[in-house]
Amino acid sequence: MKNLKIAIQKSGRLNEKSVQLLKNCGLNFENYKSSLITTVSNFPLEILFLRDDDIPEYVQDGIADLGIVGENVIAETEAEVRYLQRLGFGRCSLKIAVPSRSDIRELSDLNGKAIATSYPTILQKFLTENKITADIRMISGSVEISPALELSHAIFDIVSTGGTLRSNGLVPFADVMTSEAILISKNGIDSNPVVRELMQRIQSVLRAAE
Ligand code: ATP
Ligand code: ZN
Repeated sequence: MKNLKIAIQKSGRLNEKSVQLLKNCGLNFENYKSSLITTVSNFPLEILFLRDDDIPEYVQDGIADLGIVGENVIAETEAEVRYLQRLGFGRCSLKIAVPSRSDIRELSDLNGKAIATSYPTILQKFLTENKITADIRMISGSVEISPALELSHAIFDIVSTGGTLRSNGLVPFADVMTSEAILISKNGIDSNPVVRELMQRIQSVLRAAE
């Protein structure tokens, strides 16, 4: 039988904890150096190291059987995957923030305003649910700087401590979603015995950490 594949982030905020979780499950493998794929020596599993943005679609399309990725990225890509397990790390919230001197006071004040974000899909859904029509400006990085450059009236981004917001003269305005790392699978794979064994190990690691 072909080995299962699990996709994890190659480098970034989820990489270390994802690797640690799998190692705590007793899996023996080399962490990412230059090869995109590594074989676990003592379990029928291969690990793919990818950019986090690609993980939901790789899993949806069956290129990887499992994946570890932030809920925010799953929501943004709208990939059809199954949530197997919440993993309790990579916690963050996604918020709309406005300049501290802004005249935006309530949600309806966002009508007609420009909002900069790297998460246009999640933001559009929130705006539609709240019957707001705003101009979404897609920016791939450093979203917080855009109000100061008069590129937008507000931003929508990941906020953890709020330090980056403050240092850019922004204040949180609306909570849109919270996120943590999730173990996902393509539909219908969770009856696979290897997946079950891995799930059991992950759950006992998570219980031991409680
Ligand atoms: P990649 O190179 O893989 O595309 P990235 O730069 O898009 O990486 P990271 O900054 O490494 O992404 O963040 C990965 C995930 O970590 C986020 O999508 C989110 O789910 C989670 N996360 C937790 N806390 C934070 C935070 N303070 N800032 C950004 N992401 C966070
Ligand atoms: Zn990314």
